[in-house]
Amino acid sequence: MGRDDKGSVGFIGIGTMGREMVRNLLKAGHAVHAFDLNEAAVPDVVKEGAVRAQTPADAALGADIVITMLPDTPHVEATINGEDGLLKSPPPGKLVVDMSTISPVAVRRIHADLKRIGVGFIDAPVSGGPVGAKNAALSIMAGGDSGDFARAEPFFRAMGTTITHVGASGAGQTVKLCNQLICGINIQAICEALALGRASGVDLNLLRRVLLGGSAASWMLDKLGPAMIEGDVSAGFRIDLMLKDLRLVQEHAQALNVPLPGTALVTSQYVDARAHGEGTNGNQALFRVYDRMTNQVRD
Ligand code: NAD
Repeated sequence: MGRDDKGSVGFIGIGTMGREMVRNLLKAGHAVHAFDLNEAAVPDVVKEGAVRAQTPADAALGADIVITMLPDTPHVEATINGEDGLLKSPPPGKLVVDMSTISPVAVRRIHADLKRIGVGFIDAPVSGGPVGAKNAALSIMAGGDSGDFARAEPFFRAMGTTITHVGASGAGQTVKLCNQLICGINIQAICEALALGRASGVDLNLLRRVLLGGSAASWMLDKLGPAMIEGDVSAGFRIDLMLKDLRLVQEHAQALNVPLPGTALVTSQYVDARAHGEGTNGNQALFRVYDRMTNQVRD
């Protein structure tokens, strides 16, 4: 165990989500060694007590657990299999947890590779966005061996409130992909309702408030509805990341011969958004696709 017997963490990926998760691990009393390819990302958490690591192997040195929070599958695979990666230099605590959203197939491959050298691997993607990360209120859906989950759970408690072991390796990612499919299609449904309401001359804030009181209520309508109405496209969860997740959903579904026509349709609209330069905007910017289809010009 690390400082104060709380357990020490090597944390890799200090981005929008990772930086808040590291803050909460520090607040809970864990020692954190932080690594990011972008050096400018690390000082934020060093100011709050984390120690800068030079490589993934350096972050793992002396750690009970290594947590990765990276954009996509290749970034996680590079961290595991790369020259200074965790396969060559695992943490002494013999536990690696990936909290990014990546391919469930890759997860099972990584799980098997690490198991061969006696290291446990948990896939533990999250839901709740940057606000959930900041408030240590993430929903964490974990896949992997029960003993490894039990060892990771105290660390999850520092970052989230709903923590569920959903099954074997890869199951966490499968549940997360189901979550993303619903989020993507739900945003599209909200765009359509707002476009119809706007064309009819209904007050959109009133429309949203009424819908939140009935069976059309949703997290997306609650949290992203105001930004959609105001035309605020600032990013929490970027269009690019949503497209990455919808790609993962479709790859997974195709491998299992499950048709997902709703996902295919909304994906084409996110592609349209990205083609119009919206990739780094928040995913509520999908409403701009509807602005264009209905000839609404906004700044
Ligand atoms: P981000 O792009 O803000 O952060 C990723 C960080 O990883 C960046 O700082 C980047 O420099 C770093 N990085 C990239 N490759 C690296 C490598 N090989 N080694 C070390 N560092 C590397 O992304 P984010 O919004 O924090 O999302 C991270 C993951 O969490 C993604 O898989 C995303 O889908 C998922 N997620 C995001 C949200 C959200 O609302 N932003 C919500 C739930 C889940």
